[in-house]
Amino acid sequence: MSTGSAKIANETSVIVPATVGLMPRHRNQRRQLWRGVAQCLAGSMTIAFITCVCFELRLNVPTPTFLYLIVIVVVSLQGSFLSSAIVSFFAVGCLAYYFVPPIFSFRVGNPTDLVAIIAFLTTSAVITRLVSRVRQLMQEKLRQSEAYLSEAQILSHTGSFGWNVSTGETTWSDETFRIFEYDPATKPTVELGLKRVHPHDLTLVKEVIEGASHDGRDWQLEHRLLMLSGAIKHVDVVARAGKDQAGKLEFIGAIRDVTERKRGEEALRKSQAKLAHTARLTTVGELTASIAHEVNQPLAAVVTNANACLRWLDHEPPNVDEVRDAVRRIVRDGNRGSDVIARIRGLLKKEQPPRTRLNVNEVVQETMALVRVDLHGAALRTELADLLPQVKADRVQLQQVLLNLTMNAMDAMKPVTDRPHVLRIQTKHHEARAVLVAVQDSGIGLNPKGMEQLFETFHTTKPDGLGMGLSICRSIIEGHGGRLWAEPNEGAGATFQFTLPIESAGPA
Ligand code: ADP
Repeated sequence: MSTGSAKIANETSVIVPATVGLMPRHRNQRRQLWRGVAQCLAGSMTIAFITCVCFELRLNVPTPTFLYLIVIVVVSLQGSFLSSAIVSFFAVGCLAYYFVPPIFSFRVGNPTDLVAIIAFLTTSAVITRLVSRVRQLMQEKLRQSEAYLSEAQILSHTGSFGWNVSTGETTWSDETFRIFEYDPATKPTVELGLKRVHPHDLTLVKEVIEGASHDGRDWQLEHRLLMLSGAIKHVDVVARAGKDQAGKLEFIGAIRDVTERKRGEEALRKSQAKLAHTARLTTVGELTASIAHEVNQPLAAVVTNANACLRWLDHEPPNVDEVRDAVRRIVRDGNRGSDVIARIRGLLKKEQPPRTRLNVNEVVQETMALVRVDLHGAALRTELADLLPQVKADRVQLQQVLLNLTMNAMDAMKPVTDRPHVLRIQTKHHEARAVLVAVQDSGIGLNPKGMEQLFETFHTTKPDGLGMGLSICRSIIEGHGGRLWAEPNEGAGATFQFTLPIESAGPA
């Protein structure tokens, strides 16, 4: 199966023949040598031509001298220092032989002519030197930018290439050789590149290259390479179509080794899948724990009332009124348990629980009625503010929060033996637009080092604790637009308090 993906662009553009810069150094040097020889020959032939013409026309020394200097400047601009030096000496020879008396001899009779020849030689040497210095500087700059380019190619794992479709001439940069894992001395060809293409991607790669070279279009292709070692590389190839100086189709492009990126993407995909799985497991775990936690209290209350029921039935004669009361409490607690489960199911379906305008004082009183049997001798003090504004909230969820905070307060007071157990529930106006409910105890107090984790899921200091209560309370209160936090008391114990935004300004 092929993983390659290709894109053929619609536009064709004329490109600068920049392939020389992409060539390996040894090929460049050979080319330069041949160019030097050719320029030397061309310069010498031009000097010979000028000599013939000037000699035939019987022109004086200044004319050929001037024309020779022009040729030397041109050769210096294009060729190497050596070729312009050779051309200069050739010109001096011609000058001395054909134009300086006695002609047809290299001897110079007149000292003035000798000065002229020396002046010519000096001028041509200065020109050659100056031009070659400028060329040297330019070459230095070119070499420097080539070095930067090569470094950038190594760093970005991007090689470059050129391919003249009609001549078949192909050039690869050093990095391209490195990507294909070929010796840079090898003559690069398209076939050589295709040899490294993964067999499963080969048909696609060939199709794209053939199509693009037929239509003369840009192309882009991501495919795999299969190295001799058996390693697989992923490469992204981009090529731009253009015309060479002769107007023939050629491609200049870049090949980028994206193996690392692919591996990273794969690793990321795997870890994302793992994370999603873990998140699902955590959610299921948290949900199970939260059901267990929240249903525990009503169930315990049902069992207590059922036991009480049995005791009243065992009385002689059975106390039917007490039995009826206990059964009513069982029904109430059973309903509360199923209400809690309904809320959790709603939460799963992302349903908004039914919210009504209610008086927080009433919810506090209802909840305290539920826990009264569990107070184990602790003194309950309720300080409820008069004319408390209404809030829009879910009654069952508010009861859940109050129950959790109260049970925690009772747990915190259990180990205390040297002072009275006092549970204080307070309601009051908080700032301009909120109601505050505080549950204060005289228990063991808060551990200053553990304050950060108090509300974290599964954080517990109790041997039989689940560490769910406070995190459930916080998410319920925050779901209502309020805030829940804990503070150590000035004396012993702790205060857990929460705010709920006021729905309308009117008192209850
Ligand atoms: P659990 O009650 O199952 O431990 P919670 O989330 O309700 O889970 O409580 C987490 C922890 O916060 C408790 O184990 C306890 O250490 C601490 N805590 C809660 N309420 C109080 C309190 N009123 N006083 C002191 N510590 C408390």
